[in-house]
Amino acid sequence: MRPVVQFESVTKTYPGGVTAVNGVDLCIGAGELVAVAGPSGSGKSTMLHLMGTLDRPSAGRLVIDGHEVSALSDRAISALRAQRIGFVFQQFHLAVGVPVLETVADGLLYAGVPVRERRRRAKEALSRVGLGHRIDHLPHQLSGGERQRAAVARAVIGKPALLLADEPTGNLDSASGTTVLGLLRELHAAGTTVVVITHDREMAQALDRRVEMRDGRIITDTSTSSHTIQAAGAGR
Ligand code: ADP
Repeated sequence: MRPVVQFESVTKTYPGGVTAVNGVDLCIGAGELVAVAGPSGSGKSTMLHLMGTLDRPSAGRLVIDGHEVSALSDRAISALRAQRIGFVFQQFHLAVGVPVLETVADGLLYAGVPVRERRRRAKEALSRVGLGHRIDHLPHQLSGGERQRAAVARAVIGKPALLLADEPTGNLDSASGTTVLGLLRELHAAGTTVVVITHDREMAQALDRRVEMRDGRIITDTSTSSHTIQAAGAGR
């Protein structure tokens, strides 16, 4: 399986001295569906930022979709992010007064796709998430679940190699949450590598592979089915 995400002894220390990710080794292969779970403050968001090239490691080697992040210029990193990575955040901020079709089409703004093609693909993506009948709606005319489905449509319109979702069901009622989870599953079935950050145990349990974080370290990874790779407090 081709690795899409490779952490080798990756550490992230923020200015001010908090080490949010501490010597992590992790390999996620193409087509995997992975939950990164753990309590608040355990380093999940920092892991997501690193995977999404929104932040660079302080130490260690991080390879995303075959590119070593520390060897890339800021410009090359932006291109990698725009072309290969999709994001779904907990709260999707749709631009006020902009129809959902345009917001989703804008997901391709930096990919050099002409506007007509952007709109055509946005329509297709919205149909895929069950919003084909809502393309002209304005944000305030959509429910929370519909907005989050639009967020998924926007994230996948560029056909990313890696889809990163941060608490994607965090603000949703359970029916909408189930729908969004179902969508992520479908995308995974279609071949996208999906990583979901969650503190929700139930959500994590529903995914194929679970990586559990504590204090910036991985304490459990079901793919290796061991509980001890980097036991918290192992002092590295
Ligand atoms: P989680 O997503 O599991 O809640 P985070 O990755 O957000 O964990 O945070 C891990 C640790 O890093 C926490 O102690 C947090 O306060 C700290 N942290 C996160 N972001 C920053 C930042 N930008 N600057 C300084 N400290 C940060």
